[in-house]
Amino acid sequence: MVDRVKFQLDDKDVPTTWYNLAADLPGAPLAPALSAATGAPLGRDELAALMPEPLIDQEIGTEREFEIPEPVRQIYAMWRPAPLFRARRLERALNTPARIYYKYEGVSPAGSHKPNTGIAQAFYNKEAGKTGLVTETGAGQWGSATALSAAFFGMTAKVFMVRVSFEQKPYRKSLMETYGAVCTPSPSIETAAGRAILAADPKSPGSLGIATSEALETAAGDPSLGYVLGSAANHVLAHQTVIGQEALRQMELADDYPDIVIGAAGGGSNLAGLAFPFLGAQLRGGPDVRIIAVEPASCPTLTRGRIAYDYADTGRVGPLFRMHTLGHSFVPPAMHAGGLRAHGIGPLISRTVEDKLIEPVAVAQTRCFEAGVQFARTEGILPAPESTHAIRVAIDEAVRCREEGRSQAILFGLSGHGHFDLVAYEKYFAGSLEDDVLDEAVLAAADASIPAL
Ligand SMILES: *Cc1c(COP(=O)(O)O)cnc(C)c1O
Repeated sequence: MVDRVKFQLDDKDVPTTWYNLAADLPGAPLAPALSAATGAPLGRDELAALMPEPLIDQEIGTEREFEIPEPVRQIYAMWRPAPLFRARRLERALNTPARIYYKYEGVSPAGSHKPNTGIAQAFYNKEAGKTGLVTETGAGQWGSATALSAAFFGMTAKVFMVRVSFEQKPYRKSLMETYGAVCTPSPSIETAAGRAILAADPKSPGSLGIATSEALETAAGDPSLGYVLGSAANHVLAHQTVIGQEALRQMELADDYPDIVIGAAGGGSNLAGLAFPFLGAQLRGGPDVRIIAVEPASCPTLTRGRIAYDYADTGRVGPLFRMHTLGHSFVPPAMHAGGLRAHGIGPLISRTVEDKLIEPVAVAQTRCFEAGVQFARTEGILPAPESTHAIRVAIDEAVRCREEGRSQAILFGLSGHGHFDLVAYEKYFAGSLEDDVLDEAVLAAADASIPAL
């Protein structure tokens, strides 16, 4: 008999609702987003310019569950429920008494968790009469998910991709084009926001904040286009909770429960997706879980940013959110986990960190690649550079368990595969991947861009 390592549910077990942590949040309600134009809390009218009605309900609602529309569930069922594995081979390699589990989202057609929300947003935009989607992407995972989602609903897709990633990962663009999308490196000359950045710095590597400004501007100029977003927003985090809801049931199949839940945090959506259903259970009287948000040391939003109202985009086109932020002018160094290069983070993640329900840590990228390689050689899956952040901390925790002689259950989110990220692995093996040291002056200058409210 082999050790049971794979915990797989049936098609019928695809969740029927998305979970909304706002329903179980202790203390004051989540601080509202503010209008960039008036500084007042963002009303439904202004939100209606950004998203269809059902998404507004999910963005500001406090009910515990939102029903997943059947057409969305049908598409989810093409690859969901996603498998949950026990990492027996990694455990043995680490000689740890810890029980390590991972939930693998790389089984989606786009290779990450991002289609969980892409499909939902495409569905609602199509229902609202939009014929195309426009968005920004960092590493290209969200752009790929948007392109896929648009294709499934017969819509066009326009994707502004952060230039440094566009150059590092040419095949992400090819994938988007195969799905029928148009992918443009950002900053571009197609928008006023992009032209302004290029005028100041013709060699700008771009950033998620800049690409967001370009996408928002494009959407605002064409009513047939729906703007969709890949992370951070409350409704996006809710859509991702299919991950954690499935994981709760799969841990039951494993006859276990995690002491620790770990996820890489960019905008916070895969971490929230995995961890919020466990956190919600804890807040309603269930077992305590230690939740760890792992971010790159070169974009240390949670560990070195501060909590303030700030813009999500560099061009200050969109609303302000109360969140941990490094300042909307922050342009992170060109590290290889492109999906983790955001100056801000989802307000719900920020709030749970503030309330000490989630613990943030920052890790250097070479240590992450080291963990990613060890994972590939033991478990066989080539992880996305973003996901290696979660693996790094899972390994560190498993080693701590060994040193303390404790057997804890560790569950981490393997948010995607790294098949399009081999240039980064190649650099790691060549020894040319470096750990950027952030200059205090750079952090202080970005911090100064946070508006005084
Ligand atoms: C986008 C992405 C992330 C980071 O985004 P979150 O919204 O924080 O989840 C992490 N891993 C992968 C594979 C991604 O594509």
